[in-house]
Amino acid sequence: MKIFLDLDGVCCDWMLAALALIKNNKDIQFCDQTGLNEGKTPEEVLKNWQLNQRSSTIRTTKFWGKLAEQGHEWWANLKEFEHYKPMLELLRNKGTVTYLTASPYGVCGRYASYGKTEWIQKREGEKFRRFIITHHKEECAGPDTVLIDDSHDQCMNFIKAGGKAIKFPQPWNGQRFLDSHRLMAFLTAAFYKLPDNDGVLITTLNTEF
Ligand SMILES: [Mg+2]
Repeated sequence: MKIFLDLDGVCCDWMLAALALIKNNKDIQFCDQTGLNEGKTPEEVLKNWQLNQRSSTIRTTKFWGKLAEQGHEWWANLKEFEHYKPMLELLRNKGTVTYLTASPYGVCGRYASYGKTEWIQKREGEKFRRFIITHHKEECAGPDTVLIDDSHDQCMNFIKAGGKAIKFPQPWNGQRFLDSHRLMAFLTAAFYKLPDNDGVLITTLNTEF
């Protein structure tokens, strides 16, 4: 099986770094409810994230401009989730893992591509080339493929294009974040369910684990 693995929000904590970036920039509004500008830490904001609260308000010109100023290092230094290594080990027992990650527009996108490549090669070695950077993840869909992604839209597009998808649990996509142990149980159950999956998105909400 070909397994396509998203990076931001799945392997590394993009949202935590994004919140830290805007914490001291009150002119960049993230979301009124976050309390980030009332003294809460990015960790506290994430912990209290309301299910289904969209992260779309972060997509402002100001935010991406601010991010572009950080260069490629910001992307290269994103914190790896605690579950990253055990998850990778579990997935490599199920099939061939290829990182499949998008990057933003313009200058920020150029830095993102550079930094994401660094992030991956720092962990996988400089000769590692099993990664794809594209917004059009559905181009990789086909028989015997699965995408693991925290973006609902990317998962649905992948399914429509003939692949299978597991929506990685995060509060911004309507699921609770799982600790490493519970996440492994979920992924194991999700892969068990995959063969009978008929184009239905697999989530923590429709999987027994
Ligand atoms: Mg993502």
